[in-house]
Amino acid sequence: VPACSAPVARLNDGHLMPRFGFGTWLGLDKYQLPVPVDGEAVQLAVLAAIDAGYRHIDTASIYDDEDQVGRAVNQKIADGAVKREDMFITTKLWNDRHASAAVVAALQESLQRLNLTYVDLFLIHWPFATETKNIRPYADIDYLETWRGMVEAKRLGLASSIGVCNFNLTQLRRLWDSHELKPAVLQVETNLNQQQPELRQFCHSRGVQVVGYTPFGSLFPDRAAPDAPPPRADDPQLLAIADRHNKTVPQVVLRYLFELGVTPIPKSVTKSRIEQNRDIFDFSLDEFDRQQLRSYHTGHRVVDLKIFSDANHYPF
Ligand code: NDP
Repeated sequence: VPACSAPVARLNDGHLMPRFGFGTWLGLDKYQLPVPVDGEAVQLAVLAAIDAGYRHIDTASIYDDEDQVGRAVNQKIADGAVKREDMFITTKLWNDRHASAAVVAALQESLQRLNLTYVDLFLIHWPFATETKNIRPYADIDYLETWRGMVEAKRLGLASSIGVCNFNLTQLRRLWDSHELKPAVLQVETNLNQQQPELRQFCHSRGVQVVGYTPFGSLFPDRAAPDAPPPRADDPQLLAIADRHNKTVPQVVLRYLFELGVTPIPKSVTKSRIEQNRDIFDFSLDEFDRQQLRSYHTGHRVVDLKIFSDANHYPF
């Protein structure tokens, strides 16, 4: 096994998940508008990621890039570089498909765009529902109903595992108690400012794997909101930890999240960063490092959801 190879976790339904993944959401620009998804950027990034050893790829129907993810994955399978069973592909259900009878059809459409016969993981993207793809109007559909559709998708073999994103502790407990089929994964924002101590503890005690999105948080000045708490990537204490391990600050952050038991899914469309981010499996942090890294937790979140504060399942 090469030094950069990610360990795997056994999910509570018996399937395996690589403990390190690749994000494919292109994000928002400085005006808070979605970065346009052109024909190739994501496809090239996923090809570079697979070459660099990533086997876990995170997409969603709302990212509008499932087709590009699928082309890259299928190309690598056709080349003989990987087998389908080596890959772990996640996609997500958008808010306008929460009616239980709509879930399977939504996944089938995702699979068509991905050009795959199944995904490894299918997640409810948000606990609240909307009538259309837009953020309004809300639809009055309980996520417990949506879960029944997710269970059906798993039963049909269209998704090996199912889970949720952006559920808070109350919602997660309610879901847990509602159905014999439990979520295998919770995907939530996890980074230095938002280390999710309560959710991690709940998930750890129930055997639910936590996948951490936006793992770099506000580390990079060009992406950090003016009011975002420190640290930035040039923070002297972070640089000192990185120097001691002969690693970069982004690598230290990813390693810290990994050691917390979180599966980070960093996104990059830059080949050198894709490779750098992946190279965190040949060192470990010590208690001195961890104490410093723990101290940055303030609860601040990058993915600001105040626009949804009137939704019936808020806060999430
Ligand atoms: P990340 O924390 O992964 O940060 C991505 C940014 O960091 C990009 O601007 C990237 O630049 C830059 N970057 C990456 N690596 C480095 C590096 N080594 N040095 C300097 N800069 C670097 O944020 P995301 O919000 O993209 O989160 C990751 C993934 O999580 C998403 O892509 C998506 O798949 C998922 N997600 C899920 C959500 C959910 O609701 N379930 C919500 C948000 C994200 P560049 O690309 O230009 O190299």
